[in-house]
Amino acid sequence: AKEQGKNSYCLFAEEMEDKSKKYMEMDNMLRKAILGNEFTLHYQPQVDATNGKIKKLEALIRWNHPERGFISPEEFIPIAEQTGHIEAIGEWVVEEACRQIKSWKGKGITTPKVSINLSSTMLSRQGISEKSIETINRSIQNVDVEFEITETAILTNEKNVLKALDIMKKNGITIALDDFGTGYSSLNHLQNLPIDVLKIDSSFLMNIHKSDKEKSLYESVIQLAHSLELEVVAEGVETKEQVEFLKENKCDTLQGYYFSRPLPPDKAEVIIANGFIK
Ligand code: C2E
Ligand code: CA
Ligand code: CA
Ligand code: CA
Repeated sequence: AKEQGKNSYCLFAEEMEDKSKKYMEMDNMLRKAILGNEFTLHYQPQVDATNGKIKKLEALIRWNHPERGFISPEEFIPIAEQTGHIEAIGEWVVEEACRQIKSWKGKGITTPKVSINLSSTMLSRQGISEKSIETINRSIQNVDVEFEITETAILTNEKNVLKALDIMKKNGITIALDDFGTGYSSLNHLQNLPIDVLKIDSSFLMNIHKSDKEKSLYESVIQLAHSLELEVVAEGVETKEQVEFLKENKCDTLQGYYFSRPLPPDKAEVIIANGFIK
């Protein structure tokens, strides 16, 4: 038994070593990425379901590493949250989005509201909302941006997060609850959080073709959100059938590959200057 214990300990230690090696490597890479300007923002349109007009753009971070190439935010954001780099990254995202909005406005382009993802780790730190608002006020207006938060944020540090959200709301910044239906979804959150928008996670839409039950679940979420006077955004819209279903059920805003992938700034500029995607 002693032998076995030792062996499993060795395995465990090796695994830990692998993990911490990868972690430290990523930690170093992220540090360089911030200093070396390796990040960019892409923009995915959100379309008004009633008339097809571009209503908002979601800013999504992209990392092009000089040797490794494209690294997905799904991979590096969670690590950045653990290492603390998320703070610098998050501040960069707000600054870059503001710079882009200002530049578009300067060209006389009617720029839709840009929604910015805020990590829950970041949101729970004190002062983040003041800092973001300062950044926004320096270049653009509060109504030009929206923040997307997830329910994890509320569980991380409820008191701080609620305070941060309150400050944003008081400054006229709208707040969207992202990925609704995954994780710790609670009806309490819908009622108690100062949110304006509900983004229904794509996993629900992916299932609606399977059964009437899945369809009515989706419909109920739309109705519930509307009864709380929230704007409803459908995430992950990929097919014409989904578009029709969402229109029928009075979903307000549609986002997904059916309309457009996230676009680099020059391509996003062309479509917002048009106002429509197709
Ligand atoms: P998210 O906030 O839920 O963003 C939506 C993700 O779904 C994006 O992936 C987008 O490219 C993808 N998507 C959009 N339409 C469709 C569709 O029709 N079908 C499918 N299959 N996917 C679609 P992306 O850009 O890889 O981002 C992944 C996640 O990384 C985001 O999920 C968000 O949680 C995080 N993230 C991205 N940018 C930022 C950022 O600037 N800050 C923070 N804190 N997190 C970010
Ligand atoms: Ca989002
Ligand atoms: Ca989402
Ligand atoms: Ca997501």
